[in-house]
Amino acid sequence: MNSNDTIAAISTPSGNGAISVIRISGPDSFETVQSIFSSKLPEPGTIKYGKITDDSRVIDDVVVTCFKSPASYTGEDIVEISCHGNQFIARQILEVLLIKVRIAEPGEFTQRAFLNGKMDLTQAEAVGDLLMAKTRISQMAALDQLHGVLHKKISKIHKKMTDTRILLELEIDFSEQELPDIDVESVVTDLADVKAKLENLAESGDAGLIIRDGFRISFAGMPNVGKSSLFNAFLETERAIVTPVPGTTRDYIEEAVSIEGYLVRFFDTAGLRDSDDHIELMGMERSRKMIDESHCIFAVYDASNVLTGSECQETFEGLNKPVIKIANKSDLISEEQKHLLNEKNYIVCSAVTKEGFKLLEETIIDLINTGAAEIHDGMLTNTRQISACRRAVNGVDRSITALESGLGFEFAAFDLKEACQALEEITGAVSTDDLLNRIFSNFCIGK
Ligand code: GDP
Repeated sequence: MNSNDTIAAISTPSGNGAISVIRISGPDSFETVQSIFSSKLPEPGTIKYGKITDDSRVIDDVVVTCFKSPASYTGEDIVEISCHGNQFIARQILEVLLIKVRIAEPGEFTQRAFLNGKMDLTQAEAVGDLLMAKTRISQMAALDQLHGVLHKKISKIHKKMTDTRILLELEIDFSEQELPDIDVESVVTDLADVKAKLENLAESGDAGLIIRDGFRISFAGMPNVGKSSLFNAFLETERAIVTPVPGTTRDYIEEAVSIEGYLVRFFDTAGLRDSDDHIELMGMERSRKMIDESHCIFAVYDASNVLTGSECQETFEGLNKPVIKIANKSDLISEEQKHLLNEKNYIVCSAVTKEGFKLLEETIIDLINTGAAEIHDGMLTNTRQISACRRAVNGVDRSITALESGLGFEFAAFDLKEACQALEEITGAVSTDDLLNRIFSNFCIGK
C-alpha cells in the first residue's frame, strides 16, 4: 500500500438504508470532491448540502463533510459524502471519484490512521473488534482498548523496563568512570515486579479472548440423554434435531447468545457411544475436538439412569476444564431423588419443565467472571498480543537470571532489550509490512 496517494471507498454496508457514506482520504481529497460537487466545499469540521454530478448529469443530492489534516480519522485530508442509502447510487459516485483516485484496500483508512500516529496497533485492532462486537461487554472492552487503556498500561511497563536497561547500559559503557555501583538486588526486585505485571497481562489474554470471541460450552454425553432437547430449550431455538432415535446429532451444532452481556457459544455435540457407523464415528471425532476446544463441558446424563446406575457414563475425567454434571429429565423423578442427585453435585434439569435453567445460567456467569474480573483495567484480546507478551515475560526472566547468576550486565541488558521489543510489537512501535497487512486485511473495505 502506498500511503501518499488518495483513496476512496464506500464505508457503509451494502443494502438499502437512510444514507450511504463514501469516504475519501489523502492529499487530493478536497480537490477531487470539489471537481464533482455543485457548491464550494464546506470549511473543515462543517457540512454542506449540494449535488454530485458527472459531466452530463446530477447523480444525487448529498451532504459533504470535510476534515483537514491532521484533525481527521486517518490524519490526512478526508471528505465524507453522505448520499441516499442505495448501493446503486453510492457506487456511481465512487466510480466518478475513481477516475482520479484509487479504491481503498480493506482496513486501509485505519492502517493510515496507525501509520500517521493517530492510534497505536492495539487501538487499531480495537476498531476491528468494535466492528465485530456482538454483546455489551465485548463492545465495552473494545471501546476501552480504543480509548488507549491497554496502550497506557503497556507503555508504563515498557518505561520501567527501558529505565532499567539504560541503567545497566550506562554501567557497561562508563564502567571506568566514577558512577555509583548498581544495587543488583534492587534491580532484580524491580524486574521481578515487572515480570509479575507482564504475567498478569498475559493471563488477562485468556479473559480477553473469552470477551472477544465468546465462552464456549459443549453439551456432551451419551446419546438420548436429552442433550439436543436441553440445547434447544436453553437457547429457546429449534435448530438442533430432537428425536427419540439415538445418534441423530451427527455433527456439532453451534448457537451463540448473550448472557448478562457476555457472548456465550453453545455446542450441541454428537452422542458419544460405541458405534460401527462410519459417519457417526466421524461426528463423534469432531465432537471430541469441540469438547477439547471448549472452556467448559455441560456433561448431560439421564437422571433416572444415574439413579439406577444403569448407564455406562462418560465422566470427562482428565479434561483440564470445568465439567458441570447435569441430570436431565427431572420431570420423570421424585423430589427425594432430585435431592439425592443434588448431593452428588448434579444440577438437576428438565428440558420439558426448564427446571434448573436459572442455576445453569448462574453457573455460567460464575465461570466467566472468574476469568474476566478486570475488563476496564486493560486486557490483551488476541493471540498475537498474548504471544508477544509471553516473549516479554521470558526476556525479563532471562534478564533476572543473568543478574542473579552474576553474568555481565550486558547479558541482562540484551535480554531486557528483547523484552522491550516484544512489547513494542504489541503496540506496533515495531512492526513489519507483512504483519500490518495481515491485521488490516481482516477489516472491511471503507474502515
Ligand atoms: P440426545 O441424543 O442426547 O441429544 O437426546 P434428545 O434431545 O434427542 O432426546 C432424546 C429423547 O429424550 C427425546 O425423546 C426427548 O423428547 C426426550 N427428552 C429430552 N429431554 C427430556 C426431559 O427433560 N424430559 C423428558 N421427559 N424427556 C426428555
